[in-house]
Amino acid sequence: MKLITGAGGLIGSTLKGDIIINGRSDLDLRNTEETFKFFKEKSPDTVIHTAAKVGGLGANMAYMSDFYIDNVLINSNVLEASRRSGVKKLISLLSTCIFPDNVEYPLTEFKVQEGEPHDSYLDYAYAKRVLVVRCRAIFNQHGLRYQCVIPTNVYGPNDNFSLTDGHVLPSLIHKCYLAKRSNKDFVVWGTGKPLREFIYSKDVGRLVDSLLLCEHSFDSLILSNSVEMPISHVAEEISRCMGFKGSIVYDKSKPDGQHRKPTSNARLKKILPNFDFTPFEEGLSETVDWFIRNYESCRK
Ligand code: GDP
Repeated sequence: MKLITGAGGLIGSTLKGDIIINGRSDLDLRNTEETFKFFKEKSPDTVIHTAAKVGGLGANMAYMSDFYIDNVLINSNVLEASRRSGVKKLISLLSTCIFPDNVEYPLTEFKVQEGEPHDSYLDYAYAKRVLVVRCRAIFNQHGLRYQCVIPTNVYGPNDNFSLTDGHVLPSLIHKCYLAKRSNKDFVVWGTGKPLREFIYSKDVGRLVDSLLLCEHSFDSLILSNSVEMPISHVAEEISRCMGFKGSIVYDKSKPDGQHRKPTSNARLKKILPNFDFTPFEEGLSETVDWFIRNYESCRK
């Protein structure tokens, strides 16, 4: 029996499970007692933990304290409930913003705790690092090898397309859509120069499924194609997919955040050497089409 937390979200919606926790209305994972009770009743043997309070640069900076406490509670409860109810295999989803700001690139699995995260994600990063520490502690005390995977910037259908609180790619898709509709400029935050590595949500789902089947006993694993691109390229590609012919304008009064966070996918390549990543243009085009088709009902 496989349980998925956050099944209604960006990554969770790409996964298939027997027991589904879509969101807070199904089960509030911040509530310890209810979470323990639920896991005991359902008794899953496998858990994919994708649930988190998430947001882009804007949301992290605005709600830092909420992001910290909600994610620490969710992560502590899910891991302890899993352990107590006899879960054998657990994979938690993290994010590359957990890495130190001041670190030698590329990022590798060994560097998670080598320094302070970037100021803009202090809350979220530390709350997610809790997962790495808890997994290690559970292994040391109970011999259970619960695992953490760390995808780079994930995008795809079912994301939060909020103009203010979303991650860069969904926010820009929404902004470009509105700019086209009202014949206005397409305004992008910052200089457009920061670099990011993007991974399609369906690739993350396929990777997690493959990892469940393989017997490698890694503790944490970066999920990345190791292809960096500037935000300006992302904005241009969105314009192309959307058929937007107006101007792209960079609002330099808005923050750039971390300049880059390139990753090494050496460990992933060793474990799954034949994995084929979806080309960025293809994943983006599917995501833009999905957004246009679901404009009225999607999270925004
Ligand atoms: P990060 O990759 O974890 O830093 O988070 P984001 O997905 O929010 O990406 C932030 C980067 O995209 C920064 O360099 C921002 O300046 C840039 N960016 C450009 N426009 C936007 C936007 O509309 N929303 C967000 N969140 N970031 C934007």
